[in-house]
Amino acid sequence: MIPFSMKNGTLCVEDIPLPEIAARYGTPCYVYSHAYLTERARRFTNALDGAGKGKALIAFAVKANPSQAILASFAAEGLGADVVSAGEIQRAVTAGIPPERIVFSGVGKTAEEMEYALKIGIGQFNIESVPEIEMLAEVAASLGKVAPVALRINPDVDAHTHAKIATGKADTKFGIAAEQALSAYEKVACYPSLKIQGIASHIGSQITDLAPFEAAAQRIHEIIVALEKAGHPIETADLGGGLGVRYKDDQPEPPSIEAYGEMIKRVTKGWNCRLIFEPGRSLIANAGLLLSKVIRVKESKTARFVILDAAMNDLVRPTLYDAYHEIKAVTPAVDYYHADIVGPVCETGDIFARNRHIPTVKADDLMALMSAGAYGATMASVYNSRPLVAEVMVSGDKSSLIRKRQSVEDLMRDEQKPEWL
Ligand SMILES: *Cc1c(COP(=O)(O)O)cnc(C)c1O
Repeated sequence: MIPFSMKNGTLCVEDIPLPEIAARYGTPCYVYSHAYLTERARRFTNALDGAGKGKALIAFAVKANPSQAILASFAAEGLGADVVSAGEIQRAVTAGIPPERIVFSGVGKTAEEMEYALKIGIGQFNIESVPEIEMLAEVAASLGKVAPVALRINPDVDAHTHAKIATGKADTKFGIAAEQALSAYEKVACYPSLKIQGIASHIGSQITDLAPFEAAAQRIHEIIVALEKAGHPIETADLGGGLGVRYKDDQPEPPSIEAYGEMIKRVTKGWNCRLIFEPGRSLIANAGLLLSKVIRVKESKTARFVILDAAMNDLVRPTLYDAYHEIKAVTPAVDYYHADIVGPVCETGDIFARNRHIPTVKADDLMALMSAGAYGATMASVYNSRPLVAEVMVSGDKSSLIRKRQSVEDLMRDEQKPEWL
């Protein structure tokens, strides 16, 4: 299914031309294709059908896009959630994801967050350090509960991705070193308020080669075998997320969900545990775009700047990760030129693309920043007092506002002046 396509010279989302979306909801706004994100979820589920023992749990990484409408769409497809805060647990449960399908990751879970998660009854805590084991044991004991625990092991695998999104090397803050796995599991076994349930790993994001996934899975299996030999049965193996997607039209497709599934089935053949996956980007990145309007085109002696009404506060990936996004004219002209595509924020880093070859545009033309469904809206800020933008979901010829555009009043609502001022 192709979520965004040109029809009669106009870029459309499913059956709706984007100018209609802009007229109805304003710009900038995020636009998601419901059919496409649903299809991705189904493909992931089908690709892993038959892998491991029982039915694999596909736990969507909520941080990639925590929208209620999107979480509810995935809940309807039977997905669970991978969360990294109490806030994400609350969002997932509110959207209809059953607590037992929630996996809680992250190096900095607080005692309050652990208590909240235990009371709600989440499916698994992915613990990332020995002090965290101790804290969870104490919190669970104080509530008279037994916490289901997996230890996140750092397999020391290089995922060949951007340094800011690599998590599986020994020198990152994530997970417990493989050499310390056995002693850490022995520690878990000492606490009656903890139950050893599984093992977990997540080696990074936007990984476009299956080899690091395979190496990490093999490393995890060696540890499972050692643990079982030492008398610690492992019921679940969480192989994380991280499958990459295509951001550039002229680049080859990274391994498909199906190719990933085939590799996993081959590598995990004979494993006696239930598998868990935590995909984020691969389910939602290409289901969304950021629709923006050209404010003006500014020509200087040395460069041409297309100034959009969207900026780095709305989509920070280019600034933060040097990320590439395709930028399309919604109703492209026949002539092309080169331009820097920038936002209005007062930062030199507020650049979406440098010297990009694009159809010529003028003020009020619409442009679409593609592949913005993951790590887009979720990372937005209100820098420069720019309210969070609207978000819209499209299904066929229907569209619906899934997040109202903020107002400046919303931004100031929780502020107050000291009474002595
Ligand atoms: C970010 C993250 C994910 C999702 O990664 P994607 O690249 O979006 O698939 C999964 N698990 C953990 C622990 C994460 O931190």
